Amino acid sequence: MTSDAAITVRDLRKSYGAIEAVRGVDLEIARGEVYALLGPNGAGKTTAVEILEGHRERDGGEVSVLGHDPARREHAFRERIGIVLQTTGVEPYLKVAEAIEQYRGYYPHPRPLDEIIELVGLSGQRDQRVRKLSGGQQRRLDVAIALAGDPELLFLDEPTTGFDPAARRQAWDMVRNLRSSGATVLLTTHYMDEAEHLADRVGVIVNGAIVAEGSPAELMALSAAATVSFRLPEGHAAILDGIEGVRGDGHGGYELRADSPTELLHELTSRALAAGSELDELRVERPTLEDVYLGLTSGADREADTEARP
Ligand code: ATP
Repeated sequence: MTSDAAITVRDLRKSYGAIEAVRGVDLEIARGEVYALLGPNGAGKTTAVEILEGHRERDGGEVSVLGHDPARREHAFRERIGIVLQTTGVEPYLKVAEAIEQYRGYYPHPRPLDEIIELVGLSGQRDQRVRKLSGGQQRRLDVAIALAGDPELLFLDEPTTGFDPAARRQAWDMVRNLRSSGATVLLTTHYMDEAEHLADRVGVIVNGAIVAEGSPAELMALSAAATVSFRLPEGHAAILDGIEGVRGDGHGGYELRADSPTELLHELTSRALAAGSELDELRVERPTLEDVYLGLTSGADREADTEARP
C-alpha cells in the first residue's frame, strides 16, 4: 500500500444472503484524485462505497481509507471524511449560514464558514432559509455540510441526479473547486458525461466487479474504432465492392467501422469521385465514453434483475 493513496482496497467482498453484491473489488485512489465509480443499477456501487465510509460491514478483503480501517468506526476517521448522501435532513427554517455553522460546531477543526460558502457557490443565498432553496441549491448545501469538518476525503453519491443542465454545470464547477483545494473525491454517478468532465479516473463496476478502469481518455481508447457512415444513390453500391465490413440498411444507408478512418475515407472518396457518386451525409464518429460504458455493461441490468429475484 502506497502512502500517497487515500483509499486502498484489496479483494473486497460482500454478500446479502445469496446475492454477491461485491465480489473481489480492488481499488487504489490517490490523494487529490477525483475518482468516479460508474455502473448500472444494482452493480454494487453503494455497497462498496458504504463499506469505505464505515457504514456497512464487509465479509472479506482489506480496506484502508486515509490509513484507517473504516470497519472500526473510529472517531478520528469520521472527522477526516465527508459524506454527501442523496438526502440530508437539514433544519428547513435555518438560514444557509446558520445550518453550516451548526455542523461546523461538531468538529474540532472546521473549515472557515466563508470558505465553504464560496466553494459551493452559495454566497448569494447565505441568509436565505433552507426551505426556500431550489433543489440544486439544496444539494450544494448538502455538500457544504459535508465540508464543515474540513475533510480530506469526500464521498459524493450521485451529485447531480435530478438537476437541470445549468445546475449540473454549477455542480461540476463545485467539484472542480474541491479538487483544486486538494480534496480527494470519490463519486458515484450514472452519467457518463459527468464522469468524463470531472473524474481523473473512472472505475466501471458490473455485477459486483470492476470491469474497466482508467482515465476517461484511456477508457475511450478501449473502443478506438470510428464509425464512418454515408448514403449512396440507388445503383451506386458497386463502388463498395471489395471493401470489407460494410453494413447496409437496405435503403441506401451504409456504415463501416475503422481503426484508422483516414485510409478508409481516402479509399471511399477516391472511388466515389472516379464513379461520379456522391457520399451523402458522410460522417465520421468517434465513440463517446457512454458508448464504451454501454458496451461494457450491456446485459448487466438484465442479469442483476434475474439474480435479485428470489
Ligand atoms: P444503484 O445504482 O441502483 O444505486 P448500486 O450499484 O448502488 O445500485 P447496490 O445498492 O450496492 O448497487 O446493490 C447491489 C446488490 O445488492 C443489488 O442486487 C441489491 O439488490 C443488493 N442489496 C443492496 N443492499 C441490500 C440489502 N440491504 N439487503 C439485501 N440486498 C441488498
